[in-house]
Amino acid sequence: PALTQTTIAHYHSIIRESEKVKGEADRHEFKAETRMLLDIVAKSLYSENEVFVRELISNASDAIEKFRYISSTKPDDVIDLDRKLEIHIETNKQNRTLIIQDTGIGMTKEEMIDALGTIARSGSKNFLQQIQKGKEQGAAANIIGQFGVGFYSAFMCATHVEVYSRASNNTDSVGYKWSSDGTGSFEIQECDDVAVGTKIVVHLKPECREYAEENRIHDVIKKYSNFVGSPIFLNGNQV
Ligand code: ADP
Ligand code: MG
Repeated sequence: PALTQTTIAHYHSIIRESEKVKGEADRHEFKAETRMLLDIVAKSLYSENEVFVRELISNASDAIEKFRYISSTKPDDVIDLDRKLEIHIETNKQNRTLIIQDTGIGMTKEEMIDALGTIARSGSKNFLQQIQKGKEQGAAANIIGQFGVGFYSAFMCATHVEVYSRASNNTDSVGYKWSSDGTGSFEIQECDDVAVGTKIVVHLKPECREYAEENRIHDVIKKYSNFVGSPIFLNGNQV
């Protein structure tokens, strides 16, 4: 049979479900301040929760820029030098998921533990300071909007998040899966068949199911992602 537009699009998507976890998962507790931030973010009724999509795309874009930089300055330190530098997004209404994958610098296990377990980002630190100054929960929404909470903003809309990553600056780089429901802890497990770069799987809360719709994500990309210097594909088609 003739290929439909959707099947063709699928061939152009880099998103695969080939990762296979192995061994035991390690459990890590979030730092107290991260827990506090996540708790506020998860409960927030911030109406513009679409900004989490912008945050994840901007992280994907940053990761590609970092890879571009090291591949031009230290080409011997990177693997898979000639791969395409792209961001691929997939919506799946049936699974109620949003997937954002980049072919950027990726993360080692330690980088995943540090970057996704602690609050390094200045916006998040300011956010917590504002909250600690005694502003009540109702004000949290405005503060999320004002400072941005980066990766953690996914938990406004997620029941749980999985991050698959493989670093590109390490010749025997191994892939890992990070996963969390945004409460007390996260797990990390070694994983085979992880593509170089990072793939984030957002399992959406029922009230956020709109972000599993292609049209909705298309609008969000158009609204926020003009600054992105790498091609973005949505369900296989370049946006
Ligand atoms: P920021 O982008 O301001 O540093 P975020 O909370 O958005 O803060 O992200 C925290 C960190 O997690 C990033 O600095 C980066 O080290 C890591 N990270 C997040 N997403 C990715 C990604 N797609 N690829 C590589 N590293 C990432
Ligand atoms: Mg960020």
